[in-house]
Amino acid sequence: MISNRALNITPSITIDISSKINELKANNIDIINLSIGEPNFNVPKKATDYGIKSLNENRTTYDLVSGLKELRTEIKKKLQIENNIIVDEDNIVVSSGAKHAITNSFMALINPNDEVLIPKPYWVSYPETIKLLGGIPKFLETFKENSFKITKEILKNNISENTKALIICNPSNPTGAIYNKDELKEILDFCLENNIYIISDEIYESIDFSNNFTSLASLNDKAMDMVITINGFSKSFAMTGLRIGYSVSNKHIASYISKIQGHLVSHPSLVSQYIATGALKYCKEDNKNMVMEYKKRRDIAIKILKDHNIFEYIKPEGAFYIFINISKLKKYIKYDDSFSKAFCNDILDKIKVGVVPGIAFGNDDYIRISLASDPIDLENGLEKIHKYSKDILGKS
Ligand code: PMP
Ligand code: GLU
Repeated sequence: MISNRALNITPSITIDISSKINELKANNIDIINLSIGEPNFNVPKKATDYGIKSLNENRTTYDLVSGLKELRTEIKKKLQIENNIIVDEDNIVVSSGAKHAITNSFMALINPNDEVLIPKPYWVSYPETIKLLGGIPKFLETFKENSFKITKEILKNNISENTKALIICNPSNPTGAIYNKDELKEILDFCLENNIYIISDEIYESIDFSNNFTSLASLNDKAMDMVITINGFSKSFAMTGLRIGYSVSNKHIASYISKIQGHLVSHPSLVSQYIATGALKYCKEDNKNMVMEYKKRRDIAIKILKDHNIFEYIKPEGAFYIFINISKLKKYIKYDDSFSKAFCNDILDKIKVGVVPGIAFGNDDYIRISLASDPIDLENGLEKIHKYSKDILGKS
């Protein structure tokens, strides 16, 4: 009865874990939630005011499929000033979250049996979205010594005549690594030479602790031929539930993305688009304050990890996650299919701390904690995980 396409995908582990935690909380069980990447900030007031104003003016009818002209004009200005990407409104399609922008982009590019290169560890929804469209995820093994970043060599060893695209997450969810300009140039040049499209997921771009971020599409004039940039408002303006993201591509691709979107959702919710417009117009300071807070939390978490000195981890340069290697505990935890899942279930059950198993990102030796959580929870949760781990290691 159910399509093979639907049968073939697994649910989102990040969303699943967070729903499970919320259910436990609803039953009055006190859980420290370090799982989902959901900012614990409110949407900036001037942004919501802009949305409320649009409702009071009854701006609630159907609008342009590619998104409000006013919002795309603000995005265009932002791209020019902050990303050094010079485009106009017709290059931009506003969608219902970055997730949707990624899906639209793959829909515009992928034919059945096309291969899409996915560096490991990857964000949980990339492979499933590609599979839904009949594409084939081709996973790229990377090395922790290089913060799990891909290189030209890795690409060279993994392409085939069916390679259509590469998806890259920069800054990375789950590692927080950021590619520097030279690393990006190497990847871009290789893909341009080999006719490989790049979906550059830059949703965490503003959360950059080391001032190291560069947009891939800004690197040279040819980049726009092959690069689709993905961004959104969930992380930069704490607007997760309002579901606004966007893609930036050449106009040819953008016209197809828009055509697809027109049939699927017409356009994203108008009031959310107005709130996003208000965020870009008036709320840059709010974004800066949130990023400063994430950096503080990153430093607190790294200090705890350093002081206990049990686990290896990637020190995040951006985004709001820490990817922690828990493989030391592997021989002490009973598991069937996945060690990291068993570990996460165990700590949720025994010490009431929720984190995401690395298997969600294709690496079973790791867990991911979120810095988007309450800072007191972050400290307590990390301390509890260390105590739990020391107990296990001490007993053995
Ligand atoms: N890309 C990455 C790397 C993410 O972590 C997320 C999760 N929010 C998304 C895309 C999707 O974001 P949105 O909420 O805008 O759909
Ligand atoms: N992207 C966030 C995360 O990785 C939110 C959950 C999701 O959209 O998968 O936790």
